[in-house]
Amino acid sequence: MLPKLFSSILHCSVFLHTHKNSTTTSSSTFTKQAFASLLQSSSSQSHQLKQIHALLLTTGLSIKNSLITQLLTSLTLLGDMTYARLLFDEMHKPRSFLWNTLIKGYVKNDLPIEAISVYQIMRGLGVRPDPFTFPFVLKACAQVDDLWAGQEVHAHVVKFGLDFDAIVRTELMLLYAKVGELSSANYLFESMSERDLVAWNALIAVYVQTGNAGKALGMFHVMVLAGIRPDSVTVVSALSACANLGCLETGKQIDLFVIKENLNSNLFVNNARLDMYAKCGSIETARCLFDKMPQRNVISWSTMIGGYAMNGDSGESLRLFSLMQNAGVQPNHVTYLGVLSACCHAGLIREGKSYFKEMVKSNDCNVQPRLEHYACLVDLLGRSRHLEEAYNFIKSMPIEPDAGVWGALLGACTIHQNIKLGRHVADILFNLAPEVASYHVLLSNIYAASGRWGDVEKVRQKMRKKGVKKVVAYSAVEANSEVHVFHGGDRSHPLSSNIYEVLAELIKQITSIGYVPNTTEVLHDMQMEEKEATLSTHSEKLAIAFGLINVRSPFPIRVMKNLRICNDCHTFMKFTSKVTNREIIMRDKNRFHHFKDGSCSCKDFW
Ligand code: ZN
Ligand code: ZN
Repeated sequence: MLPKLFSSILHCSVFLHTHKNSTTTSSSTFTKQAFASLLQSSSSQSHQLKQIHALLLTTGLSIKNSLITQLLTSLTLLGDMTYARLLFDEMHKPRSFLWNTLIKGYVKNDLPIEAISVYQIMRGLGVRPDPFTFPFVLKACAQVDDLWAGQEVHAHVVKFGLDFDAIVRTELMLLYAKVGELSSANYLFESMSERDLVAWNALIAVYVQTGNAGKALGMFHVMVLAGIRPDSVTVVSALSACANLGCLETGKQIDLFVIKENLNSNLFVNNARLDMYAKCGSIETARCLFDKMPQRNVISWSTMIGGYAMNGDSGESLRLFSLMQNAGVQPNHVTYLGVLSACCHAGLIREGKSYFKEMVKSNDCNVQPRLEHYACLVDLLGRSRHLEEAYNFIKSMPIEPDAGVWGALLGACTIHQNIKLGRHVADILFNLAPEVASYHVLLSNIYAASGRWGDVEKVRQKMRKKGVKKVVAYSAVEANSEVHVFHGGDRSHPLSSNIYEVLAELIKQITSIGYVPNTTEVLHDMQMEEKEATLSTHSEKLAIAFGLINVRSPFPIRVMKNLRICNDCHTFMKFTSKVTNREIIMRDKNRFHHFKDGSCSCKDFW
């Protein structure tokens, strides 16, 4: 590529020198074409573009706006925004198209603040924005979650009469949804003249991306009821919402739709189906699909490898990884994250270290370990009692460890009750991420377990002083295609009295076969009876009691919890699966626990 380009440049300058006596028009027309084709063929290296720019300047062709525009576009595509800006600043009265190119370049290169600032300069100079300006300025406001700037741009949109432009309106809607102004987003959506599939898809996707999977599914239902036919983009978002919520029943219904509409030849749709089944705990169904897929890519393999790891089948996860390599599919960092979590869930230290080494040695930058891989290895070492080694591993990291990495070590200190190291790590974390409640909670758990209530109180005071709020725990259970959400001590469900009765009876039964409440993780310095009462109404226990009433045997009861399951609930689930002879599939923040006949698939290592 490079020698060819240089020969073209050479040809171009030789041409200019040998033809300087020919008529200006024919020469410049030819050289303009030569430059245009040069620009087209040199989109891979920014220094090549700079050489072309230098040539344009020496030939006097730099005043040809179309060439400069092409050069600017190529620079923004290459991501050389510094040079693109220098070039732009040299221009005399650039037209709105060039302003748009620069703004778009900043947005595409993840520089939203610069994009907004260029828009402000443009407005200051009195350049009239057009329908192509606003979508990117609005995207920039959404990228930085700047509602205030977004509202100002919205006012300009109205001023220039573009508020009914479908693309501008969709971007406005996405902006409001992104910054959490869902009512404004919905208002814009509902007042759109065309109910256009693109807008529906955009809104559903933004709900999924912003963690509002429930709302995404709600919109999906409304869309179907409104008679708008979902396409492959819609079903990918809807399946991903089901995966996030662990809604297997709804996911299955969407899957039936996929098959009915013949969308199952689309690779992206099939990958979303795999992901939904794997994340809803139906790894066997995911596997059947995977085996039948006409086409697979690295995402399909990685989904299965991560899925097996999450479902506690580390052996199959690692077996698939070697099958993938034998099939000649190049793994990426996502694949390796699945492989490392498989090792982590099974406590496979030797294998974990060896896979990690493979990543470090790789020449492929898409395989090089990232912070989440370091966190995973720290987790593996820490959980397996190698706390010192985990600490030294963090200290030797070539990249700055983040709260995720230190958090993994603090979690391990909690499991193994290492107060000294735990305190040290917690101090680092309180500096790195003072607002994250879970680190404070982990430290107080270490203190609570060793009865140091004075220290527990100090941590709680610190949390109150800094205004740190705990994430509210909840558990969701699906019955008859409806999702029911429970919080700890929740009495808001219509079947509440029935649920509490079943739960009390259940506790009586499992206590008779050896269940003893494990109160070590209860924070407060209260009397034993109080502690047991708090424990007995944890959200997952209420969800199970509800499931026992409403999920027909022999179907397993599936519960999704937003945080990690506590030790006591884990023991409770094992006993419950035994006395009720029911299978319980529980997904917590980290992984699946399949409880059956008194034991859990995680073998108590989680
Ligand atoms: Zn619990
Ligand atoms: Zn478990």
